[in-house]
Amino acid sequence: MARQQVQIVCSACGADTLLVREPQFEGIRRVGEILKCATCGHVYAAEEEVPFKDAARPRLFRPPPPPVKPGVLSEEQKVLTCRLCRHYVVNPFTQRCGLHNRTVDATDTCPDFAPPEPDETGGEEQEGQEGQEGQERGQQ
Ligand SMILES: [Zn+2]
Repeated sequence: MARQQVQIVCSACGADTLLVREPQFEGIRRVGEILKCATCGHVYAAEEEVPFKDAARPRLFRPPPPPVKPGVLSEEQKVLTCRLCRHYVVNPFTQRCGLHNRTVDATDTCPDFAPPEPDETGGEEQEGQEGQEGQERGQQ
């Protein structure tokens, strides 16, 4: 009889121990298993109640997700954020998109993003960028 060594952390006695599976018979007919703690003998009514140690282990070793901080956005997000767009307008109480005439967040992204004009003095900048959408951004 091959017994699996299943590690549990017993919910009754708290021991880091093994699960004991005992076949449960009704007469000569096997009707199920008794699941119990090898240390204190606490019987678990169902498989779902067994505090398997292996099930908890991956959770302990999974690193927490990295906090999302401004400034660690991906390159694409950095490029497309409303904060860096020429249409971005900051008022004391709100941030707006001058192009769409709506409230935006600094971290919003927009398919109509337009980089700020490098120099406002020339006045010869062409406004032909609207039709290009984001298709050219796939190329690096
Ligand atoms: Zn126990």
